[in-house]
Amino acid sequence: MSASQRSAVRDRAEGRCEYCRFPDLIRSGPFAVEHIFPRSRGGDESLDNLAWSCNSCNGHKAAALEGIDQTTGEVVSLFHPRNQKWAEHFTWSDDQLIVVGRTATGRASIERLRLNREPLMEARRLLKIWKLHP
Ligand SMILES: [Zn+2]
Repeated sequence: MSASQRSAVRDRAEGRCEYCRFPDLIRSGPFAVEHIFPRSRGGDESLDNLAWSCNSCNGHKAAALEGIDQTTGEVVSLFHPRNQKWAEHFTWSDDQLIVVGRTATGRASIERLRLNREPLMEARRLLKIWKLHP
């Protein structure tokens, strides 16, 4: 992947993980260019298949395309940052520390990518103080 392609993916995401919305300026490790449709399953390097992702979300998603909606037990597609809008599938709790699923896709993605992992919630609490979240 070229530096300009990586930069285009980052700029399009405005420097935030396209799943958990964590800013890359405050990262604890490098961000990844994530293949939404995994390379191992034939996904390509086109910008339409790439998302800016923190390493944790990238690692938890791995090659998955589907997850389980804990509310219904249904297997549903995970959130697709190119084809779907974050705000249609997720919202913030009143205190803005917890990602809440608005749809089956949102709920399954929260579970699969662990979008409310404890270190992330603690970081959101601090980012809020600095007005960097949400
Ligand atoms: Zn993330």
